[in-house]
Amino acid sequence: MDNRLKILNIWVDPLTKKEFIRKIRSFFKSDGGPHVIFAANPEKNFSVPRDLILYETFKNADLLLPDGIGMVIAVRLLYGLKIERVPGVEMMDAICALAEEEERRVFIFGSKEAVNKKAVEVLKKKYPKLCIVGRSHGYVKENRMALLLEKINRTRAEVLFVALGSPKQERWIARYKDSLRTVKVCQGIGGSLDTIAGHVKRAPDLWQKLQMEWLYRLIKEPKRIKRQKVLPIFVIELLKERLRRQRLER
Ligand code: UDP
Repeated sequence: MDNRLKILNIWVDPLTKKEFIRKIRSFFKSDGGPHVIFAANPEKNFSVPRDLILYETFKNADLLLPDGIGMVIAVRLLYGLKIERVPGVEMMDAICALAEEEERRVFIFGSKEAVNKKAVEVLKKKYPKLCIVGRSHGYVKENRMALLLEKINRTRAEVLFVALGSPKQERWIARYKDSLRTVKVCQGIGGSLDTIAGHVKRAPDLWQKLQMEWLYRLIKEPKRIKRQKVLPIFVIELLKERLRRQRLER
């Protein structure tokens, strides 16, 4: 991505949802692949640099979505730009719509067996012509991975959604993407299948509009505090970086 923005230790692409979709259309048309899509969020600012392979894969991803309000604030503070929030689960939904329209073959990997199965049913109802060629739960043992890769290749999947949570899914994609022979678009979707299957509810529209989805999820799942506690540190780091840049400009 040409105008990728650096946010402390990670990056984000300042595109609108429509622009992301346009990119994905072009990925489908291109010969290369897999094109990798990850969500950028404050937690990854801390987890990604801890692992060199993860860092390189993240840095070289084809698209980095401004997944949460944290990235929107970061771009505002560091670049003075107002960008749209593009949650990973919404991008996944848009890719399914596009895959249905273009008759692309989709494989869904990740989450618990019941969640994966239910999410596939929900997606089939929502997109009746969507061609879901295969699925697998996300608890595949290392010694069975070759079989899974063979299955994905055999189904000639062009879209692969990977729902193993972060950073497990980014590591998986880093390790196996070169073994995926037909996949053109590969998105790390975290807990999206849980949301689609109805096991985890997204915040009501008003909470989303007020940019408070994170607070809603925290109230519903208090154990997320462990992950969200990095947020204040992230904001402090951003403010320090902004000050540093202002000093340099003077
Ligand atoms: N998961 C999995 N295999 C694993 C570990 C996790 O399939 O070895 C799944 C888990 O069942 C859940 C998702 O990965 O569906 C993790 O969701 P989480 O909300 O933690 O991800 P996030 O969206 O925050 O990255």
